[in-house]
Amino acid sequence: MGIERTVPAVHLHIGGQARAEGTGGMAEHVYPATGEVQGLVPLAGPADVAEAVEAAHAAFPAWRSWTPAERRGVLVRLAELIKADVAELGRLSVLDNGMTHRIGLHLASAMAGYTEYYAGWADKIEGRVTTAPAQRRELAYTIPEPYGVVGIILTWNGPLISVGMKVIPALAAGNTVVVKPSELTPYATEHLMRLVREAGIPDGVVNLVLGGPDAGEALVRHPLVQKVSFTGGPTTARKILASCAESLKPAVLELGGKSANLVFPDADLDRVTLINTSSVFETLAGQGCAIPSRLLVHESVYDEVAEKVIARVRSLRFGDPFDPTTNVSPVVTRAARDRILGMIDRARSQGAGRLLAGGGVPDGVPAGGYYVEPTVFGDVVPDSEIAQVEVFGPVLSLLRFSSEEEAVAIANSTSYGLAAYVNTRDIGRVNRLTSQLRAGGVYVNGAPPVVGYELPFGGVGISGYGREGGLEGLLEFVRTKAVAIA
Ligand code: NAD
Repeated sequence: MGIERTVPAVHLHIGGQARAEGTGGMAEHVYPATGEVQGLVPLAGPADVAEAVEAAHAAFPAWRSWTPAERRGVLVRLAELIKADVAELGRLSVLDNGMTHRIGLHLASAMAGYTEYYAGWADKIEGRVTTAPAQRRELAYTIPEPYGVVGIILTWNGPLISVGMKVIPALAAGNTVVVKPSELTPYATEHLMRLVREAGIPDGVVNLVLGGPDAGEALVRHPLVQKVSFTGGPTTARKILASCAESLKPAVLELGGKSANLVFPDADLDRVTLINTSSVFETLAGQGCAIPSRLLVHESVYDEVAEKVIARVRSLRFGDPFDPTTNVSPVVTRAARDRILGMIDRARSQGAGRLLAGGGVPDGVPAGGYYVEPTVFGDVVPDSEIAQVEVFGPVLSLLRFSSEEEAVAIANSTSYGLAAYVNTRDIGRVNRLTSQLRAGGVYVNGAPPVVGYELPFGGVGISGYGREGGLEGLLEFVRTKAVAIA
């Protein structure tokens, strides 16, 4: 029997109420694998957002007064419910944005992992006593406090994992939240809100308003929102920061990337090929922020790696995201497909590199679906658009280098700085490169960017600032009060 393709009715969730309509109207939700409308999404307008913020504000004093152990308990319950429903959350993730079922299940499990991890932190957030009492006869100490209402804005590529990385630590630290996912991905978070209620999280602690830029802007500007956490592109981030500037509101920004994967001759080239192509083509069809979209290969093994990459790309299958043999999913919208194809065409016409594979729309995919062929450019010019700007699609650039210094210079030549990857067996080289590469994280010999919940993830440059994951990710939602008693 095939997997059920039905979608749930979608609501705005404000103060414990599920509303089938919003003041922002209704949007049709299109399944990217077929281009067919599969449901309607109520959109929040500024009035709904204001109500959601007020509900979160009203819920804050009681939620804050829960003991940390009580907050841990309810989040552990939520993690158990998510684990029990991974199959449903994974299924809905596919219907949200067309990701393959394998990735949908993986992200749902990862979200359960983040929830469990941050549940464990809820009763371990501690202040410190300074050493001053001995010298100055004052008792001086710090109290970590929640901010209050946190406004959380998500993009469409992995809303569940973003909830795990943002909403859960915010709750663990005693904040209440208003979450605005993209209107393109309404289903998995709709189901999640059911689990939030079932776990016993009080009404108003988690509010969810689907909507577009207007709803996001209303959330950022609302005076009761004390902090903003955003995942999306640098252009939107600039607008958000401009709004935050008016009231000097702090923000965490998780933005895009153009991550380099450095391959030295002593690396395991088969493993490099498999991991790089899986990451750029099979994970959300290249719509991942930390994908190694620039493969920098030492000249002595460049041709060998290029051949391996092309062979692997030729073996990839497109099609129904629910089919377990499908490797490459569609991209999220028709506009995204056209934008990606436009970048490919410009790279070709500008002579930015040699087209080694793909470059167009594949045959044999469901009619109306937004598919792009896995595309590989060889000998890419380091300062061309395709080497400098995030494509957010299944496009890989191969670049050649002749020395470690040149590899670092190319790797660091974009304005982004989310992840960098290194493949070598030389530990001395690893140590040099980890300090020289300009990135929020360096991942060696195939380690994935989010290797564990305990490790912080985030960027430098136009990849943003602030961290998610680990203790650093928790501390983004805590502010420190200093107390001194004479
Ligand atoms: P986007 O910036 O267009 O939209 C992201 C979110 O912001 C959406 O919910 C959107 O409705 C909202 N928004 C748009 N305009 C707004 C405004 N003026 N004020 C407030 N909110 C507003 O990004 P996108 O195109 O949906 O997503 C792609 C980008 O996200 C890529 O650059 C990608 O690399 C990045 N991304 C980063 C990470 C990370 O963790 N670093 C993860 C996934 C995606």
